[in-house]
Amino acid sequence: MTNRESYKRGMVVVAHADDAEFGCSGTVATWCRQGMEVVYVLCTDGSKGSSDPKITSSQLMEIRKREQEAAARVLGVKEVVFLGYEDSMLQPTLELRRDIAREIRRHKPDVVICSSPTRNLFGQGYIGHPDHMAAGEAALSAIFPAARDRLTFPELLKEGLEPHKVREVLISDRENADTWIDVSDVIDIAIEALKQHASQIGEWDVAKGMREWRANTGKPKDIPYAEAFKSFLFRVDD
Ligand SMILES: [Zn+2]
Repeated sequence: MTNRESYKRGMVVVAHADDAEFGCSGTVATWCRQGMEVVYVLCTDGSKGSSDPKITSSQLMEIRKREQEAAARVLGVKEVVFLGYEDSMLQPTLELRRDIAREIRRHKPDVVICSSPTRNLFGQGYIGHPDHMAAGEAALSAIFPAARDRLTFPELLKEGLEPHKVREVLISDRENADTWIDVSDVIDIAIEALKQHASQIGEWDVAKGMREWRANTGKPKDIPYAEAFKSFLFRVDD
């Protein structure tokens, strides 16, 4: 049984600036509209995502940070936390797990969205970025058990961060989806948010692309525009 209407706080843990807007901007816009406080946790510094020979990593980091903050403003996201790990080198280390657990304990989300921890070989067009798998694995391990257990990462307790139990995790995994969120009312906001990532989208028609993508996702459930996830619900008394 889900009781999503009672959620007050959400978190999105992703590897890169733009991952959240590509994957779940409609859900985030819906949550923000409902009055939920949403925080983004970005694992990497975005320093590698360009094929422009004239741009340096430090210039790119600044550009992508600004783009992500602009996208967050469009959606109504409360805060963007940048963990600053090197782009394209992300590993699901204990350090990354602890850093995500710290943000979970600090912001106390009822629900967390993260990427899939496994490589998806479905289809032929996209093989998946290793950072996405690393961020997904680290986020899941931070939710359970690191954020929940008092004696794990005792340095967090010393920082005054008490354990926190997340109630639900939504994994961005369309092929194994069991949860569809209707984003039809906020599709224009989702498009506007993705458009903020100008350095990443180039000439691509964002409005057309996102409408097609969300429409395809909604089709099995007869929803005009949807985002789909694999959900895990935790018992509150776990
Ligand atoms: Zn990415």
